[in-house]
Amino acid sequence: MQQSAFLPHQALAQLFDVLQRDGYTVVGPTAEQGAILYRQLDSVDQLPVGLVDHQAPGRYRLEQQAHGRYFDWVGTAQGLKPWLFTPEQPLMVAREVEGGLRFESVHENVPPTAVIGVRGCDLAALALQDKHFLQGEYPDPHYSTRREQLLLIAVNCHRSAATCFCVSTGDGPEVTGGADMVLDELDQGFWVRATSPRGSALLARLPTRPLPGWHKRRSKTLRKRARVQQRALPSRDLRTPLYQARDDETLWQSVADRCLTCGNCAAVCPTCFCSRVDEESPLDGGQSTQVRRWDTCFNDEHSYLVGHVVRKSAVHKYRQWLTHKLAIWHDQYDRSGCTGCGRCITWCPVGIDIVEEVQRLCTEVKAQEPHE
Ligand code: SF4
Ligand code: SF4
Repeated sequence: MQQSAFLPHQALAQLFDVLQRDGYTVVGPTAEQGAILYRQLDSVDQLPVGLVDHQAPGRYRLEQQAHGRYFDWVGTAQGLKPWLFTPEQPLMVAREVEGGLRFESVHENVPPTAVIGVRGCDLAALALQDKHFLQGEYPDPHYSTRREQLLLIAVNCHRSAATCFCVSTGDGPEVTGGADMVLDELDQGFWVRATSPRGSALLARLPTRPLPGWHKRRSKTLRKRARVQQRALPSRDLRTPLYQARDDETLWQSVADRCLTCGNCAAVCPTCFCSRVDEESPLDGGQSTQVRRWDTCFNDEHSYLVGHVVRKSAVHKYRQWLTHKLAIWHDQYDRSGCTGCGRCITWCPVGIDIVEEVQRLCTEVKAQEPHE
């Protein structure tokens, strides 16, 4: 069984051909509206060749460079979440029939989908969403249908954005599991490794050649470069300081003064999974559809309980988001809900930085502790 080889850039189109001949819908990165997004792709020409991204708090810019690499950008604006936990999901239709109502669950036909370009932090986020949607008491059939159809071709990051901190969460920059195939991009092509039986079968059909040792050494050097990150969470388990900070609202005021409660951070976060269910009826009232939609702890309605909005202020909303993500997840899912992708920092319209906020809270909580 072939496990690793060199695939020249010119042969990437053949990877697309093989996948499409096998009936896969190919999803991959492409530049759209000034950002790199995962979209359904027809050909390799739609990949963002030569583009690099520059990210900072509240800032994202693409720059065209002269090189011919396809995956030199760091992160897509959203991860895999919208492809599995879709922003809008019809769940059930109730129809008026003679003598009463008929209830029908919505079942979809989802084609096999191959996603190319997935990063380590996004695979870690996928594993977390799997825990939530598949491994609980009530597995989600819609997520499960999409998940079963997924083939994942990952790419190791050879750069880090200024917003990345996946080294401190243990989720990157290298892919450590969860993919079928992993690519390291070099100037002339890819070092390709099969990491599952499906990946091996795919690799065997590609026009690869053996990899001379220097390619491997060079890709290690490149990955070392991506490990140099400017941001880091103080610890992987932040339960102690965050539970201590929970009851002191003054500690949350400085971030609440800036937070617009827009919910962008939760929308781009690859692990956030909150939703609501809306009931939709056409004017003739003949049927009604239940639709699940993404929701966030920043919406008033999300904490509406028996005529009362429990979390109304920005202090309460931001505190809920951060404490759930970095502390309560440990109790629910045995690890933090953050994979260090940095999207919430980049796409926050006022540039609120989760790492800075955690560092500040930890310092202030420590300062309040009684001295011996
Ligand atoms: S909390 Fe922010 S950095 Fe962490 S996974 Fe979510 S979007 Fe990425
Ligand atoms: S932290 Fe930023 S992105 Fe999140 S709700 Fe507040 S303003 Fe919006």
